[in-house]
Amino acid sequence: MQEIISQFIEKVKCRNAGENEFLQAVTEVAESILPYIHEVPQYKNARILERIVEPERVIIFRVPWLNDKGEVEVNRGFRVQMNSSIGPYKGGLRFHPSVNLSVLKFLAFEQVFKNSLTGLPMGGGKGGSDFDPKGKSDNEVMKFCQSFMTELYRHVGADIDIPAGDIGVGKREIGYLFGQYKRIRGEFSGVLTGKGYEWGGSLIRPEATGYGLVYFVEEILKLTGDSLVGKKIAISGSGNVAQFAVEKCIEKGAVVVTMSDSEGFIHDADGIDEHKLAYIKHLKDTERGRIKEYAKKYNCDFYPGERPWKIKCDIALPNATQNELNGDDAMQLVKNGCICVAEGANMPCTPEAVSVFHKAKIFYAPGKAANAGGVAVSGLEMSQNSQRYAWTREEVDNKLRGIMRDIHKICLKHGKEKDGYVNYEKGANIGGFVKIADSMLAQGVV
Ligand code: NDP
Repeated sequence: MQEIISQFIEKVKCRNAGENEFLQAVTEVAESILPYIHEVPQYKNARILERIVEPERVIIFRVPWLNDKGEVEVNRGFRVQMNSSIGPYKGGLRFHPSVNLSVLKFLAFEQVFKNSLTGLPMGGGKGGSDFDPKGKSDNEVMKFCQSFMTELYRHVGADIDIPAGDIGVGKREIGYLFGQYKRIRGEFSGVLTGKGYEWGGSLIRPEATGYGLVYFVEEILKLTGDSLVGKKIAISGSGNVAQFAVEKCIEKGAVVVTMSDSEGFIHDADGIDEHKLAYIKHLKDTERGRIKEYAKKYNCDFYPGERPWKIKCDIALPNATQNELNGDDAMQLVKNGCICVAEGANMPCTPEAVSVFHKAKIFYAPGKAANAGGVAVSGLEMSQNSQRYAWTREEVDNKLRGIMRDIHKICLKHGKEKDGYVNYEKGANIGGFVKIADSMLAQGVV
């Protein structure tokens, strides 16, 4: 089997040379899916996995815009439409200087499996730009978003491809993008999710990824009759996912001791309470400041240029970006007695880190399962937009909880090993794959 896996990965490498993040994501999936496919001749003969790793379409475009000094700036825009076998393309937009085709193909590929796991009819896609909103004025961000949508509009639509937010794309950016789409198309439709409540957004969408992550961790802990009460949690990031993960952890009686941004992390041994969290939300979302200011305000430690994994914790929630937790970090976490790592970010743990977790048999929940709450509520936003109706906070939250519970069940079904250890990575990959594969088989060679 190892030979078959190596040959498959070698072929993908040849066709996608230098796309390291994409190859990392494909390798991780292929290693758990290929042994399974080997047992199902119809998947093998229809070359389902070979087709899934090839995007249905990739769009790359120029995004010119004028900065506040009246100078011309040029960025590159992307949309990767990866797979539409179970529904229109769905996945976020990322604005960050590190964005390139490899990063977006990895994210789009992961999104295909994640969306399938939610049980909702959504295909997978991802897009974005190397534009950096940090340090830009609102006016500059608006001009960029308008130029970006002036090209993207012809490729998206409520029944075609429905983008949402991701790193660097929050409510402000979604607003500017939506306004421009509406202006060009002359229609008010659910072309984007993550909209403001006043103009078609769903309640609980901003909270969904972080809350969903914590609901998923609760399901994991229940397996051993445990709960979040009193658990010490290390979190990275201080953006959308991290903030609402902290909020839900506090509500559940856990103690969150770290948060971070790209400049370093803070360690607050007393725990981040709801007042301190309100300060972080204001600092990050309104003032657009740096996390080190928290350390000054609350007189705690700030570690410049470092990530929080050396801090002793029971549970680690990496919520910032890809490859932010490596093999050494993983060993440190295990040594410190960490019992569970659940990914709020996409692919934050390197393959070396994942293998450390599996060897130590601690719980490890991959992003495509643990952070699926965000896209799940985006799917619910699409349903509400189609109905021209808005559900209550409780309705959406209950549906989110139910979806996370169901994803957990799928992971158990496909990931439980002979010795009782749950390999969530395998469970999520196979569980996500089956629905896509069956749909592709039914739709012929397209
Ligand atoms: P935000 O832009 O709101 O926050 C990102 C956070 O991560 C910030 O604290 C940022 O710090 C930090 N960060 C970003 N890039 C780096 C880097 N290269 N090194 C160190 N820190 C970094 O993004 P989100 O919270 O929305 O997204 C976080 C992760 O969660 C991403 O992996 C995303 O794909 C994933 N995700 C998001 C979903 C959503 O609904 N938003 C859904 C599912 C997954 P700084 O401010 O310094 O840049």
